[in-house]
Amino acid sequence: MAGPRQRRTAWNPAPRYNDGYRERQVAFKLYNSLSRRIEAFEPADGETVRMYSCGPTVYNHVHIGNLRTFAFQDILRRHLRQSGWNLLHVMNVTDVDDKIIAGAALAGVPIGEYTRKYVEAFFEDCERLRLERPEKIPAATEHITDMVRLVDRIEQAGHTYQIDGSTYFRIASWKDYGKLSRLDPSGIRSGARVDADEYGKDDARDFVLWKASREGEPSWDSPYGAGRPGWHLECSAMAMAYLGETFDIHTGGVDLQFPHHENEIAQSESATGKSFARFWVHAEHLLVEGQKMAKSAGNFHTLRDLTERGYSEDTIRYLLVSTPHRKQLNFTYDGLRGAAAAIERLRNFERRLGGPFVGSDSLASSEQCGHARSQFRDALDDDLNTAGALGAVFEYVRSAHSAMDREEFGPGNAVEARGLLEAFDSIFEVLKPVEIERVSADEVEALIRERATARKDRDFERADEIRESLAKRGVVLRDSPSGTDWNYAT
Ligand code: AMP
Ligand code: ZN
Repeated sequence: MAGPRQRRTAWNPAPRYNDGYRERQVAFKLYNSLSRRIEAFEPADGETVRMYSCGPTVYNHVHIGNLRTFAFQDILRRHLRQSGWNLLHVMNVTDVDDKIIAGAALAGVPIGEYTRKYVEAFFEDCERLRLERPEKIPAATEHITDMVRLVDRIEQAGHTYQIDGSTYFRIASWKDYGKLSRLDPSGIRSGARVDADEYGKDDARDFVLWKASREGEPSWDSPYGAGRPGWHLECSAMAMAYLGETFDIHTGGVDLQFPHHENEIAQSESATGKSFARFWVHAEHLLVEGQKMAKSAGNFHTLRDLTERGYSEDTIRYLLVSTPHRKQLNFTYDGLRGAAAAIERLRNFERRLGGPFVGSDSLASSEQCGHARSQFRDALDDDLNTAGALGAVFEYVRSAHSAMDREEFGPGNAVEARGLLEAFDSIFEVLKPVEIERVSADEVEALIRERATARKDRDFERADEIRESLAKRGVVLRDSPSGTDWNYAT
């Protein structure tokens, strides 16, 4: 495609302001799991879409099932921006939970050290799949104060109780419990408690807000005793910290609808008395032979597994986004081969558009292109019907090839066709070549050592240069008397 390529660093910030169709439009319709209806979407303030996505729990590499959900969020982001809205998109990183604590203990390292490499690997996967970076990526451990404050508000509203140093949410005390998952209230087992971060999907029980610390586990002081936040609390507190008490869209995979999202609603709305997210949007699962792809089922592939088998990131991205998010997607190697072939068809067409043309411009070809362009956009406006959008493009490509064969396609038609491919690629982004410049943890550590030496030698110019160049590549350094710590910028 034409135009200068931007050099990429470890998961580049995405453009935050609308850069697409320019004019505002309210044709976008989105299925809302809360109302169970397709509704017209507009941000509440008429300008900026405030959106929260449940991010990864960083105890392992993500699999392409997880990435399907993140890829759907990318398509949603892009279409919202192209529809004329600005974006404030927050995705958390869950960097403290049962599995992380167990994994860190097994590896004999602090949780921060344990999670860092998985955060890095996750960012790298997102970058490789060309997922736009959300505007904010807070880590749970950076927001403990917000979480404790939220427990205070829930307590003041009368929905908590404490047992053995842990604080629980009493779901029977909040009349709206179950409104997202349409849970039958008779199934609620109030007084029966769950304090694990992972539990059964069909049994509603009181859930933990603040977990008493156990010997050897990381903990934070709070008015509720030393402990750590429950997983559900993390998301409510971080969403409200960045987006306010009510915001536009909350996303995640369908498995999070209950209990995670139901519990987020209970905590947030019982504390604020206001509605939490206006739209709840869930992505269906990626399946393997009819089963949900999951770490626990052992039927998963990581991005790395597939690229090592020779499938490109473009191909994988295409496969993940070509099925609309409300349909399950069955992963197969045939599907991957089909995705590669589809991209190849578009690239061939793009090459053919380079001319030379024996025919001259035709009105019919021009009209077909205009029609495809509006069908493309209409399909995305229709609850992000990516399959329909692709259908419009491929139908046009077929008709344009035959117009060229009939010599009824000229250079003016080619300019229009390139415009359509650009519109396509601004959402699907599978045609452009990318240059990736990654900063690995090893490279950061080596540069920190070099900087320490430079400072010892009073070469402050070099030391500052290293800090600045790392900052440009999304790495933040923090100096303290005990040395230099670092993290990826959020
Ligand atoms: P986790 O790190 O397990 O909390 O998952 C991160 C995201 O991936 C969540 O939004 C999950 O709902 C989603 N997810 C997990 N497994 C799948 C799957 N097989 N297909 C699609 N999304 C998934
Ligand atoms: Zn969440």
